[in-house]
Amino acid sequence: MTDLAVNRLPTSAQAEGRLVAEQDARDQIAFSAAHAENYHEPVLVVSRQRLRINAQRFIAAMPRVRPHFAVKANPDPEILGIFQQEGTCFEVASIAEIDAMLKLGTNMKTVFYSNPIKSPASIKHAAANDIVWYCVDTPQEVEKIAAIKPDAKLYLRIEVSNEGSSWPLAGKFGASPQGVEAIIEISEKLDMQLCGVTFHVGSQCTNINNWVEGIRAANNIFTHLSENGFSPELLNLGGGYPLQFTGQEPSIEAIAAVINHELDAVPEHIQVMAEPGRYLVGSAGCLITQVVGIATRDSARWVYLDTGVYGGLMELSQSFPATMVSQRTGEAGVWTLAGPTCDSIDVLGDHRLPVNTQAEDIIYMPNLGAYCTTCASDFNGFPTPKMQMVD
Ligand SMILES: *Cc1c(COP(=O)(O)O)cnc(C)c1O
Repeated sequence: MTDLAVNRLPTSAQAEGRLVAEQDARDQIAFSAAHAENYHEPVLVVSRQRLRINAQRFIAAMPRVRPHFAVKANPDPEILGIFQQEGTCFEVASIAEIDAMLKLGTNMKTVFYSNPIKSPASIKHAAANDIVWYCVDTPQEVEKIAAIKPDAKLYLRIEVSNEGSSWPLAGKFGASPQGVEAIIEISEKLDMQLCGVTFHVGSQCTNINNWVEGIRAANNIFTHLSENGFSPELLNLGGGYPLQFTGQEPSIEAIAAVINHELDAVPEHIQVMAEPGRYLVGSAGCLITQVVGIATRDSARWVYLDTGVYGGLMELSQSFPATMVSQRTGEAGVWTLAGPTCDSIDVLGDHRLPVNTQAEDIIYMPNLGAYCTTCASDFNGFPTPKMQMVD
């Protein structure tokens, strides 16, 4: 799934990247360690300072690009508040996320409704609460929005390559060139403002070229829209900015250098935004979990944890990169990890942990601030990881 051969770094940069990733993991373990004492259930420790630094770093790297935090990555109200203080706007996908924006007291005109398929009830809710911008990637969605919010501003989600992303999104969403024509046609007919373009390169994307392709395709569509009597005003670069699990992933600065260069070709009057989710919140969160038991069955060696696919580690089941650090030291070996439930899909793949791992060992998993607690259920009676904020 993940193709790290894309954007392969020279050897010296590889070594340097690995050191940066290792130091980052140690820093995250350091800010969480106090919560490993008197451990009784899984906990996601989130650093306020890290949230601020991540937002500041993103903004500094791409001065022309306004970040809209993808709320689904971690909708915790305190986290949303910190990002708002740092000058971040937001992207939502549901009624509950719209309500989170109202509660936050954010300017609803800056909230982007980026789910390409919205229920009529949720469009009504968004319209009643002054949301202006709506994503479309099919003609049907244009018709649905036109019937409820005729003065909406629409931005067109186009398909782009998701090659080199750990969590691809292409296929489910994004209009093909033919689909774009159909959307332009219906927007003209219904007199809807089609005035932006967006794309999503896939989550944890390590292939910078996907953004380049997306920006170039968007630029062509801007010209095409203008020729058809529309007034393009928005370029939305979507999400996908990666965390440093191995250090072989491009840094936000490396991605920014390429994006910034590419944006020189985008007309100045076009407002540029992005929708980082994982990047802003991921490295601010470190999961602390505990070994429930080990098991050997013939040559198979298993470690069972107190949280798993159902308890916030869904992504790990899809061979997503992960860092695991045991409190126990000693020689490492390969174990198959599993969650605590009795379901056979609750398996987390093969990972390196000390060969002498035992029940009640504490395991740290850095870089889990995004898509962890928010994806967890208490299926089978096991508690979901609770969030703990630290300074
Ligand atoms: C999930 C999502 C994002 C955030 O993606 P990350 O990979 O977390 O950066 C951004 N935009 C849309 C439309 C999304 O669905």
